Amino acid sequence: KQKYAFELEFLQAVEEIFLSLVPVFAQNPEYIHHNILARIVEPDRIISFRVAWQDDNNNVQVNRGYRVQFNNVLGPYKGGIRFHPTVNESIMKFLAFEQILKNALTGQPIGGAKGGSDFNPKGKSDAEIMRFCQAFMTELYHYIGPDRDVPAGDIGVGAREIGYMWGQYKRIRGQFEQGVLTGKKPGYGGSLGRKEATGYGLVYFVSEMLHDANLSFINKTVVVSGSGNVAIYAIEKAQHFGAKVVACSDSNGYIYDPNGLDLKAVKEIKEVKGARISTYLNYHPEATYFEDCSKIWTVPCDIALPCATQNEINGDAARTLVENGVKLVAEGANMPSDLEAINIFLDAGILFGPAKAANAGGVAVSALEMAQNSSRNSWTFNEVDAKLHDIMKAIFTESKEAAEKYGYPNNLVVGSNIAGFTKVANGMIAEGVY
Ligand code: NDP
Repeated sequence: KQKYAFELEFLQAVEEIFLSLVPVFAQNPEYIHHNILARIVEPDRIISFRVAWQDDNNNVQVNRGYRVQFNNVLGPYKGGIRFHPTVNESIMKFLAFEQILKNALTGQPIGGAKGGSDFNPKGKSDAEIMRFCQAFMTELYHYIGPDRDVPAGDIGVGAREIGYMWGQYKRIRGQFEQGVLTGKKPGYGGSLGRKEATGYGLVYFVSEMLHDANLSFINKTVVVSGSGNVAIYAIEKAQHFGAKVVACSDSNGYIYDPNGLDLKAVKEIKEVKGARISTYLNYHPEATYFEDCSKIWTVPCDIALPCATQNEINGDAARTLVENGVKLVAEGANMPSDLEAINIFLDAGILFGPAKAANAGGVAVSALEMAQNSSRNSWTFNEVDAKLHDIMKAIFTESKEAAEKYGYPNNLVVGSNIAGFTKVANGMIAEGVY
């Protein structure tokens, strides 16, 4: 803790995982013998680099780029790229660390990594985005490859940015190594169903949780934070399963529509116009807009799906959700609930789906994209979606069984951490000390 005192998010992620692993170490002394904990928290390597680019006024701008290659025991490094002004080494490390166990849970052959930049894409022209992506890839290409490290999208990085980065990688390498990046658009190597995968996967996972508790989505009131890639497709699938989604947000504020959100309007605002969620009122004047996005958790609901960013649910927000009768919370974003919030949910007996299990659908379909690229093949949307559904069911079952086996029935935080960790730890032992 002293060594990484300045890396708050990383320490938070490590603490959550280590606390879950206590029963595993008690029953498996070989993990102590092989000093797995000390080894697993030290990334294989952290690469950080300058990204210099020219804005539309011909001014030279400078940002910092990162790639944290944390662990490749189960497969090539794999994890998204985030463009957001808050990006720093701690955030990159926490995301990459979580990614190791998440990727292990998918059952796909992928290791853990994360990357990004403190570049702020907001308000940038398309040409500026392209020049930035090209500059970023001009350095990153040294360290990645289809069998080495396969980045994807994350906050601020969607199919457009992936397209610019893929184009630059291809030009520099002079080879059509499609599998170097996932999240490409279908048509030049992207997988059908990738765009929907994290949100749909989250809802498939929640369906398993509900089914296990003899509940269902039908007529449940749902609140989803964010209105980006994960949020939009979580809303879509939850509505498809019969839920009423009444609120969503962006970093400025949130919309409350008691009649149920009009997803067509949300998609037009966010995917077509790139506008603020407040403009939902232009479509539905009867809805209400509130300026403070963090207050979205005051909206009473049966199911809360945080799909925006880390630490968006603190202790106070968690208490409010519980007081208002929430029955289930499942994380679409990475680490949206802080440790206090998680404990409040677990102590209150709320069904809680932790990120590394509940939002693993995105990276699972990324691994399916890699498989399609390797075989120079492409699958239909329905084939991909069916595989995604099976993977999410398997993650739920595996996490639930691990929780039971180690004496924490129904605690999916403990279960998913243990299920992911044991796969990686066993691989580390098998592959020898390094
Ligand atoms: P996007 O950039 O598409 O969307 C993020 C959304 O969250 C935007 O609506 C953004 O609003 C909003 N937001 C950001 N900060 C806040 C805040 N403090 N309060 C409320 N809303 C906020 O990102 P994604 O949807 O891809 O990612 C969302 C989360 O899901 C991240 O934690 C990411 O790591 C995680 N994730 C994503 C996966 C994927 O496949 N995309 C896979 C697994 C996890 P604004 O436009 O104002 O910034």
